[in-house]
Amino acid sequence: MQTSIPPTLESAAEILRLLGQPIRLQILLVIGSEEVCVCHLEALIGLRQAVISQHLMGLRKAGLVLARRKGRFMYYRLANADVLELVLRAAELGGLDSAALLNQYSRVVPGCHCSRCAPK
Ligand SMILES: [Zn+2]
Repeated sequence: MQTSIPPTLESAAEILRLLGQPIRLQILLVIGSEEVCVCHLEALIGLRQAVISQHLMGLRKAGLVLARRKGRFMYYRLANADVLELVLRAAELGGLDSAALLNQYSRVVPGCHCSRCAPK
């Protein structure tokens, strides 16, 4: 019986590299439960839209995040719910409370004008 060549796991390592920045984990936590506009990400994370968009682009290129245009804004969601699980498990390994994180990042933001925080 031939032994198979062990996979190098390069693609898995690449995913972890892409996730290896706290701001990217924040973005994934925010969009993990529902699709949001970039303005909501800006309001919740508290960084400029240009910075957030740059990270979103990296996550989109990797196929982890999907985007669609609706009116004036771009909306983002996870391509696969497994990504959120991965982030939550990593947070737990880091000694964080994943339920508390989910609450924190799915909250409504006062002053945010998105359809989720300020429904018409
Ligand atoms: Zn909002």
